[in-house]
Amino acid sequence: MRCPYCQHDNSRVLDTTHDSQGGIRRRRECLDCGQRFSTYERAILATPLLVKQDGAREEFDRDKLLSGIRIACAKRPVSATAIERLSGEVEATLQSMGRSEVSSRVVGDLVITGLKNLDQIAYIRYAIVYLGLDDLESIREEIDRLLEV
Ligand SMILES: [Zn+2]
Repeated sequence: MRCPYCQHDNSRVLDTTHDSQGGIRRRRECLDCGQRFSTYERAILATPLLVKQDGAREEFDRDKLLSGIRIACAKRPVSATAIERLSGEVEATLQSMGRSEVSSRVVGDLVITGLKNLDQIAYIRYAIVYLGLDDLESIREEIDRLLEV
């Protein structure tokens, strides 16, 4: 850690404390000028890049996820809060995977699972687009599966 007073590269750690947010504070003393300073270290959760079916990478886009869920929930009794919570949970799950890349399918699967518990019509709408259910037969199979539960 570079000294903020003289830019010397080496310092000695005097003490280390952990705070309640999981951060680490270190009190340091510069080995060159002897000035003391503190550093604060905190983990930043990163959202993995999404790998699409064609192999292209794209950044996770919270707004895009939200609008996809909103469209599926249009005119359904699902509150804006519930939609935002679902989107937040999907993002948190992605971050907790601790990976640099995940298949974009993971996102779709998480949304589908969440919508299934939230609203079955919204779920079917999302599934038609996301699972590519493009004929009545496969849509009916999906609905039958829902009715069995
Ligand atoms: Zn210094």
